[in-house]
Amino acid sequence: MILRVRDLRVGFPAGTAVNGIDFDLDRGRTLGVVGESGSGKSVSSLAIMGLHREAAVSGSIVFDGEELVGAPASRLRELRGRRMAMIFQDPLSSLHPFYTVGEQIAEAYRLHLRASRRVARERAVEMLAEVGIPEPRRRAGEYPHHFSGGMRQRVMIAMALSCEPDLLIADEPTTALDVTVQAQILELIRKIQQDRGVAVLMITHDLGVVARVADEVLVMYGGRTAEHAPVREIFKAPRHPYTQGLLASVPRLTAEDGTEGGRLRAIPGNPPSLLAPPPGCRFHPRCARYAATPDDACVTEAPQPRLTGPGGGDPVGAGHRTACHLVETSGDPR
Ligand code: SF4
Repeated sequence: MILRVRDLRVGFPAGTAVNGIDFDLDRGRTLGVVGESGSGKSVSSLAIMGLHREAAVSGSIVFDGEELVGAPASRLRELRGRRMAMIFQDPLSSLHPFYTVGEQIAEAYRLHLRASRRVARERAVEMLAEVGIPEPRRRAGEYPHHFSGGMRQRVMIAMALSCEPDLLIADEPTTALDVTVQAQILELIRKIQQDRGVAVLMITHDLGVVARVADEVLVMYGGRTAEHAPVREIFKAPRHPYTQGLLASVPRLTAEDGTEGGRLRAIPGNPPSLLAPPPGCRFHPRCARYAATPDDACVTEAPQPRLTGPGGGDPVGAGHRTACHLVETSGDPR
């Protein structure tokens, strides 16, 4: 087990962004963390990396046996980049425009592994080749603006992996890319995860992305876990009304009646405000099931994730857990 998160809470002066989430992540596995903006998914990943200086972080984040909540900033800095790496949606904001990509990868490597300049430069070329950049030796001498969006994301992945981290956090890494390039980058992440046994935390709002790369999925809503299950279970038998809504909003090539062009159905309403979240289940103002069969518990009591289905035969899977008062513990009442 490389990462064990328990009752993670992240609070800001404006409100609580993450309100008690739990998950485990093993080497060589990918956990997809899904939700709309404001669900707390990115805040959780930044908390794991120790990048929230202004926030109150509590609970437990154990990385390879070491507790990170309350660890000194210097220790977190040591781990970042070397053993935990992160890639973001916009590689341009993370790459320096005045240095060649080879210099930037080499510098990250030298900093963390105290290698000589020559060794670090060779490592940069090797890494560019590994992430599929043609003519890596020549391209190592070019600047970020010479690369397309997809190629820049490959450079970021090369930089993230140059120190052989145990955990890679990818925060919406393909959102800014067109679909073909998106598929190539996801395939690259999948391949790296398998070849190197890296644990991947994939933060996304896109269920198509988790379908491609994740072994398990954690669906977040309003800073809490809505549903957590092996990926097959989430797509085959989603239990939480929010997950069901997300799946129904994914555009399909074929409509339910067999004609082409299924319509995109957005979930009505807006994500909850951090300042004044709704009482009880935070999803209740948007929940179709609550609207159809109102239940007092939905507005008075926050539902906790409970075991509601099988682990899908997954050896490491957490089982199928759902936080909804109206889903039976033993299975799906639909
Ligand atoms: Fe909907 Fe109630 Fe379940 Fe929340 S607890 S998702 S409001 S049915």
